[in-house]
Amino acid sequence: MEYDFVVVGAGPSGLQFAREVASRSDRSVVVLERNDRLRDNDKSTGGTFPEVVERYDVPDEALMGEANAVTLESPNRRSRHAMRSYVLDFPRFLELLGEDAASMGAAVRTGTRVTEPIVEDGAVRGVRYRDSDGGGTLRGRITVDASGPSAALTSELGFFDAEAAHRGVALEFEVEGEYETDDELLFRFDHDRAPGGYAWTFPAGENAFKAGVCWMDEFHAARGGRCADTLHGHVERWVESEPRWSVERVRAKHAGEGIWNDSMNQRATDGFLAVGDAISSINPLFGEGIRPGMESATMAADVALEAVTTGDCSESRLRAYERRWNERKGWSWKLQRVVGELLYDFDADQQDAFVERAARLSPTEAEQLRTYSLGPVALARLYPFKFKDVRKFPTLVGHLV
Ligand SMILES: Cc1cc2nc3c(=O)[nH]c(=O)nc-3n(C[C@H](O)[C@H](O)[C@H](O)COP(=O)(O)OP(=O)(O)OC[C@H]3O[C@@H](n4cnc5c(N)ncnc54)[C@H](O)[C@@H]3O)c2cc1C
Repeated sequence: MEYDFVVVGAGPSGLQFAREVASRSDRSVVVLERNDRLRDNDKSTGGTFPEVVERYDVPDEALMGEANAVTLESPNRRSRHAMRSYVLDFPRFLELLGEDAASMGAAVRTGTRVTEPIVEDGAVRGVRYRDSDGGGTLRGRITVDASGPSAALTSELGFFDAEAAHRGVALEFEVEGEYETDDELLFRFDHDRAPGGYAWTFPAGENAFKAGVCWMDEFHAARGGRCADTLHGHVERWVESEPRWSVERVRAKHAGEGIWNDSMNQRATDGFLAVGDAISSINPLFGEGIRPGMESATMAADVALEAVTTGDCSESRLRAYERRWNERKGWSWKLQRVVGELLYDFDADQQDAFVERAARLSPTEAEQLRTYSLGPVALARLYPFKFKDVRKFPTLVGHLV
């Protein structure tokens, strides 16, 4: 059987793609997921904003926590910004997206690992997979890589060199206990807590919160070189040694990685599109990936539906999606990457100065920071450059060209 759409990966991006095409057409779509259950993709803290909850009709059942502010902290400063935000129960969220896609007619096949694309005459015509029955092939008019950081097809097709990209690792504990920061998403920039990254706490329901640490490999090496503590050790310290919360029980642990390079990657070729983390849609500054991943899926679905309707699934037609992404996000993501490279390598004085300057942002500017639309001049004003940063300029300029 040939499907109109074969989607690889049932994370937020792949499932949203399936929901879009299934809700707006009677085109056939199958989503292939290597895990045995959708909820086994349990890596994400699930912090997100109204755009996701409202635009994608996320049911209350998938929400664990809500907050009214985002707070930035450094070793000696704090800056709180009023912002409505949510914390998803990420495994339940995926289950609900999957159920919704299936109710609209999408086929969701778990326990199915895609091994390679089928390429004929330079065009992608489907995938080869392995499952408990051995495996086989599935053909599609358009194949969509939504396989997250494993980049199952994009790396094979040479769209995204995951080896050459930046890598961030993260671990969080889901904790039961009392905590003061129950009305905010808290991000702490402090090399003692999170060398070369940040630590966070997000609300996760009554007397429960998520507390984690992430760092970018290259800045961790520079900022944490003398520290023997593992990522696990850092999260334990963050959870246990803060007077603002007390832990009764750690009820779950979640871990994963983010990979990104240049989000102006090629995103389409004949019969093929890539969405979400499989093509570096994750925001390179704070590692927020759910909102942009689902947005990329919506953009891709618009173009994919037009393509199958007109019977033209060629690269030139499908690249309309790539152009849209680059117009709306590409340059902004490049700039955010530059900003991230400075932020995670700041010394403690700079971290304090950054948070102090953030505290002076107007509500409009803070909203622009949240939506990644703060312009270069305003961003530059946030940054307490030091002479030592001059040596970074060639690398930073390299990211922009
Ligand atoms: C610890 C951690 C915390 C995070 N916290 C947040 C947060 O608070 N807010 C936020 O917005 N973002 C957060 N992120 C990022 C966010 O989770 C990701 O950006 C988002 O999940 C990307 O969605 P996706 O659908 O593109 O990919 P994924 O969620 O990675 O989904 C890809 C799916 O493809 C499947 N797959 C992979 N290879 C194959 C294959 N060969 N065959 C079949 N299936 C395959 C995987 O099993 C997976 O289910 C966090 C990430 C981590 C690691």
